[in-house]
Amino acid sequence: MGIRAKTGSGRCSVCRLHFPICLCATRPQLHFDTEIVLFMHYIESFKTSNTGILLQSCLTHSQLNLFGGQGNQCLDWDALEFDARDCAVLFPSPEAQPLAESWFPKRLIVPDGNWRQASKMAKKLQRRFGIRAVSIQANKPSNYRFRKAPKEGWICTYEAAVASLECLYGKEAVAPLDDYFLRVMDRLAWMKGWLDREAVYGGIPAGLQRHQLVKSEASTGSPKIIT
Ligand SMILES: [Zn+2]
Repeated sequence: MGIRAKTGSGRCSVCRLHFPICLCATRPQLHFDTEIVLFMHYIESFKTSNTGILLQSCLTHSQLNLFGGQGNQCLDWDALEFDARDCAVLFPSPEAQPLAESWFPKRLIVPDGNWRQASKMAKKLQRRFGIRAVSIQANKPSNYRFRKAPKEGWICTYEAAVASLECLYGKEAVAPLDDYFLRVMDRLAWMKGWLDREAVYGGIPAGLQRHQLVKSEASTGSPKIIT
């Protein structure tokens, strides 16, 4: 995996959890014929609330591209090649077709940024390559608690991509991704003091106290959580 989150020394750069509660050893590694192509705004790679990096780490047939920055973070549009016949961009624009009813994409592009950044990226892909937009209907409430939803029924990048894969491959195929996401989110919520350890899905290792992890992070000079 090329891009990793910018976290402090006390935290894992993939799941963003403190090392003693890192869940990467039990992270699913799944292959789907549909390639998930993430276009992530570079600012997202600094945020512990981002879920795109977590998603890509679970999918063996996926890629992550940064956009919006300068130098290495600046996307070279001329180097991109997309065949509009087998690609779709996941964004609920007015003309978007429901995913399962449209057709089966070989590559599904998922913009990852705030609402405005994602919308701009989706429009540019549609205009430049003629790629169609598809949307999904979230069939369950979001388990993501780290940002205010910009719209009612909004789900985060990880959940949106997994819901798309569920549309195409079925519930059972994506169950390990749902399970992993809930375990990571509950541990992050526990670290924030939003959840009691008894309520954490998958549990917290015995004997581990939250204040010990917070203290170890403070002593290593790690940056604060950006949400
Ligand atoms: Zn980890």
